[in-house]
Amino acid sequence: MSGGLPVGGAGRAQASLCHDSRFSDGTRPLPTSLLITGASQLLTLLGRGPRRGNSLSNLGVIEDGALLAEDGRIAAVGKRPKIESLPAARSAVKLHLGGRVVLPGFVDSHTHLVHAASRAEEYELRIQGASYEEIARKGGGILNSVKKLRAATAEALKQRALVALKRFAAYGTTTIEAKSGYGLDVTAELKILRLHKELVAEQPLDIVSTFLGAHVVPEPYRSTPNGTEKYIAVLIERMIPEVSRESLAEFCDVFCDRGAFSREQSKRILEAGRQNGLVPRLHAEQMARTGATQLAVQIGAVSCDHLEQVNTRDIRALAKSRTVATLLPGCDFHLGLKKYAPARRIIDAGAVVALATDYNPGTSPTLSMPVILSLACTQLRMTPAEAISAATLNGAYALRREKQIGSLEVGKLADLSVFEVADYREIPYYFGVNTCWMTMKRGIIVHGPDETAIQFSEETCRKAASHEKSEA
Ligand SMILES: [Zn+2]
Repeated sequence: MSGGLPVGGAGRAQASLCHDSRFSDGTRPLPTSLLITGASQLLTLLGRGPRRGNSLSNLGVIEDGALLAEDGRIAAVGKRPKIESLPAARSAVKLHLGGRVVLPGFVDSHTHLVHAASRAEEYELRIQGASYEEIARKGGGILNSVKKLRAATAEALKQRALVALKRFAAYGTTTIEAKSGYGLDVTAELKILRLHKELVAEQPLDIVSTFLGAHVVPEPYRSTPNGTEKYIAVLIERMIPEVSRESLAEFCDVFCDRGAFSREQSKRILEAGRQNGLVPRLHAEQMARTGATQLAVQIGAVSCDHLEQVNTRDIRALAKSRTVATLLPGCDFHLGLKKYAPARRIIDAGAVVALATDYNPGTSPTLSMPVILSLACTQLRMTPAEAISAATLNGAYALRREKQIGSLEVGKLADLSVFEVADYREIPYYFGVNTCWMTMKRGIIVHGPDETAIQFSEETCRKAASHEKSEA
């Protein structure tokens, strides 16, 4: 296998661009039938997941594979000669990838998408020696972001999120989960969740919404006697019912950790969420081991995320459960911590492992899944194949979307990313280098290298034009 970057490959060499009609968000519609060929490797990840243990390494790679998409879904996938011979493929518009690698679009199952500003000032303080928890105790950390979010207009928050979503797409991500949690009062939490809904309607990526009103206890409750209980009452009696009434979230999350919520408090909040139709997930064992993983397994949470401090009993419980162990190495990297989650032990025990960015302004300001793959390989000792499974199919499972996304198989959405590499291992290998060449969401190109690089031949453009007319 060639190790070089196929820069300026066949895809770029083809004739003029014919589809310049665009949506207002800059994405381009594709003709109803599209045949993709010319991939050096097509990573199908066939199977509905979740992947555990050895099966995490099985990417279902097809060399010289082809994929036929129709109406935003995958209609056929397999060896090129077989797919090309299908009647539907013959009349489809053709896109040749010039030897690049195709994989399912990344499913980033843990982000804090909506926030008002960076916390670069804290980044510098930490480099100079202050710990994350020290900064938090002085009103920095999450409470700093809460102050900034409450002061921001919904429009400003939306514009910032839209820029971020474009960048997610530019790194090959097609679905993200997004949490509230920087509002921490009824008005501001609902403002964030309503924004998720608006953003879904206004740009192409899918956003799966999670209510995280239990991120930390906000002011003025922190300095009020019995304040935590009073805030939990607001969560349970006001926020959760309202979130449910307006259908603003699918999941309910709690930061169950030292300095946030206890295991017992988390349980009450998640049970209230469940009674209101919100499926539980948890931030668990990041700063300290609190027993959050055991709680997650007991209540059947879809995922428990972080896990830097888990012990052997926790790992065993995860392995026997369907709760996804979501690892967020970007967080430890950005905080300069040396202790990453024991991914090797978690995988070898048989737990379902996912990887996510934890995109947020305090501890993981990255939205690059390829960077997370690099960290997973070098810091968590996951192989490139394991990391890719964890960032696609298992991420989809963590969001209960494994029947629709996460692998390239017939019937699923045509959500895929194309990388400017000849071998999938080069995606994490070129760390910090964005080799994502094209991203497609529901059959629509949402990211391409430049205005003219994604091109179809004149012949296929003519066919598309006549196809569109015959449909009109
Ligand atoms: Zn988080």
